[in-house]
Amino acid sequence: MPGSIKYNIIRSSRRTIALHVNSDATLTVKIPYGVSLSYVERFIEEKRGWIEKKQARFREIKEKFRPKEFAEGEEFIFAGKTYKLEISAGNTAKISLTKDGLLRITEKCLESPKHYIEWFYKQFAKKYITARTAEIAEAFGYKYKSIRINGAKTRWGSCSPRGNINFSWRLVIMPPEMIDYVIIHELVHLEIKDHSKRFYARMTELMPDHKKREKWLKDNSAMTMI
Ligand SMILES: [Zn+2]
Repeated sequence: MPGSIKYNIIRSSRRTIALHVNSDATLTVKIPYGVSLSYVERFIEEKRGWIEKKQARFREIKEKFRPKEFAEGEEFIFAGKTYKLEISAGNTAKISLTKDGLLRITEKCLESPKHYIEWFYKQFAKKYITARTAEIAEAFGYKYKSIRINGAKTRWGSCSPRGNINFSWRLVIMPPEMIDYVIIHELVHLEIKDHSKRFYARMTELMPDHKKREKWLKDNSAMTMI
């Protein structure tokens, strides 16, 4: 007899049961009011194969992208390209990327490496995302007011009714085609605020494989925890 699967429950006025395996491999079960726990457990048991397959996949991703140690040779990703950490002598904090694939930091940065590298990611994101958004907006005829970079962990982008767009710096850890997807998603929101049928129809028009990209981002979000 296999062990029981742990889960947390969210009850609401929905009509059906939904299972969701989160990116940390935990299971959330959304159920209508009045559904019994024994029913939920039978339901989970029926879906055991599917749940365990998803959980295994997320554990695999988590293992691959475990927290950084900021050690020489450790790999960091910028816009989908891998750079190896190289630590050089120096009493002032300096960080740069080299064309031959190195993320160079001085010893001074090791006093607070996470802080310095996150700061650097933010600068990189500002440059990369600002330029790319301008290009894409121009190509599709969108106009926006400003771009801001924040450190959101689960939200790649958002936009205000006045045309200001926010992106998380974590997005630039993703491959270029995923960054493009989030940029287009936010630009379309300037025109259509909600996730209505009209919104998705417009997305399909501009980026036919947007659903595939959205799913990839969801499944690989553990990559962006440095
Ligand atoms: Zn959206």
